[in-house]
Amino acid sequence: MKHRLKELLRAAYAGLLFHTGLWRLVDRMMPRRLVILFGHCVDAPDVNEGLPADMKMRGETLTRVLGFLKRRFDLRTIGDAALELRSGANGRSLVALSMDDGYRDNATHLLPLLRELSVPATIFLETRPLDERRVNWSHKYFWLLGRGDVEDFARSYLLRSNDSTACEGLRRALEEADALEYRLKRVLKYDAEPEDRDRVVDELFREAGGDERALCDRIYMTWDDARRLRDAGWELGCHTVSHPILSRLDADGAYAEIEGAAASMERELGTRGTTLAYPFGRRWDYDEGSRAAAERSGYAFAVNTHAAANSPETDPHQLFRIAIDDDVSLPVLVAEACGGFDLARRFGLNLSE
Ligand SMILES: [Zn+2]
Repeated sequence: MKHRLKELLRAAYAGLLFHTGLWRLVDRMMPRRLVILFGHCVDAPDVNEGLPADMKMRGETLTRVLGFLKRRFDLRTIGDAALELRSGANGRSLVALSMDDGYRDNATHLLPLLRELSVPATIFLETRPLDERRVNWSHKYFWLLGRGDVEDFARSYLLRSNDSTACEGLRRALEEADALEYRLKRVLKYDAEPEDRDRVVDELFREAGGDERALCDRIYMTWDDARRLRDAGWELGCHTVSHPILSRLDADGAYAEIEGAAASMERELGTRGTTLAYPFGRRWDYDEGSRAAAERSGYAFAVNTHAAANSPETDPHQLFRIAIDDDVSLPVLVAEACGGFDLARRFGLNLSE
């Protein structure tokens, strides 16, 4: 099915279930399920002004969505909800909210907001920012783009990089010019040799007057913040040491990234947690090696970023999650949470992404 047509059908079907109230009937009919939501930040200019808009949602949007869902579903942490689902017990279906990376607003703004709603969350920690107050390349890149032109960035990058594949990709993106920012990010993320990229971006960042420590202090939480979240009953999960694409690493490299983060969490929080989120989380961003490393480090559950509801039979190391941001559609979320898309699939209509 053509992508656009599928989108329209998906929205129309979700709207029908939602506005007629049929979704309540579907929820009663369909087997118990777990829907996991994920985002990064609540919008809080004082702590996350420089982060891209698609990583943030307004507190009022999140409150509206969770306020609606909690009337019908049980909101839990991922670890608790996944265990409960797999126990086979009866009960209301489950929804879990997760936030990735460990940004500071999760402690300063999200915590009071969710306290008000009596909803817990699962926060996936990238541990190097907490341990060393260092940020991964993407934050220096966002910082640079916030100060200058994307084309200037690409040209300065070309002058310094020794990576012919990345340079070729950048040159092509510059020639074709449309959607340059998007294409540039894809080249840096998927095509560039990580060591060369990290060096070049760091050089450009420092020359432009960037202060890594100050940037980290502004956007990432501290271990004290993480302990406050733990003490509030939230789940802290593993999101590796430095947020690499795990499928690009060999087995030892993937294990070092996961076990290193797990060891830091154990030291600082007294537990390594039960759940891991693969960085970036698309199917091509992790592989059997990453999954084996997750199991070896003791993680009972791991989540990706493909949208679907989870059943008791879903692979526990590939639980699905649905991205939410400020443009989130409540009817589509509710259609997923009530099992509406699973029901359509039983009739041969695949409206999932
Ligand atoms: Zn992440």
